[in-house]
Amino acid sequence: MNCTTCKAALPDLLLDPSAASVAAREHMTACPDCAAEFAELQATFALLDTWEAPEVSPYFDQKLAVRLREEQAAPPAGWLERMRSRLLFNTGRQFRPAMVGVMALLLIAGGGGIGISTLSHQPQHPQLSPAVNDLQILDRNEQALEQVDQILQDDSPDDNSDAPQS
Ligand SMILES: [Zn+2]
Repeated sequence: MNCTTCKAALPDLLLDPSAASVAAREHMTACPDCAAEFAELQATFALLDTWEAPEVSPYFDQKLAVRLREEQAAPPAGWLERMRSRLLFNTGRQFRPAMVGVMALLLIAGGGGIGISTLSHQPQHPQLSPAVNDLQILDRNEQALEQVDQILQDDSPDDNSDAPQS
């Protein structure tokens, strides 16, 4: 018995010790690797035993049925919505291969559309040439200097004499 066959037998050793082979048990007592793996498996199962599935809310089935009826009764918005509702509520299996094909086509078309839209969006954000960029910076600097000049003029004593004294 080697480690691979012993590890394959570990679930048997844990869940049904009588079914596990004696060779696997003997290997495990001799091999610390397999013994450690067995201990980990034991710990995992012990943890799983403590887990409790959450309770389903009361009247879950009734609420679900009501919502399904509401969705079925509501007028579908468009062809995409109609297709979606047919896919959701139609239990006829004969349509499924066709629907899978249609959905695959939609996915391909959607992916292609996204690709095309990203391509067509790129020219909307053209790379500025360094010269244009520098000119824009100079323009902004000039605006800032003008603003500073205005502030300084406002603060000058000549303007203060015209301003109402308060
Ligand atoms: Zn081993």
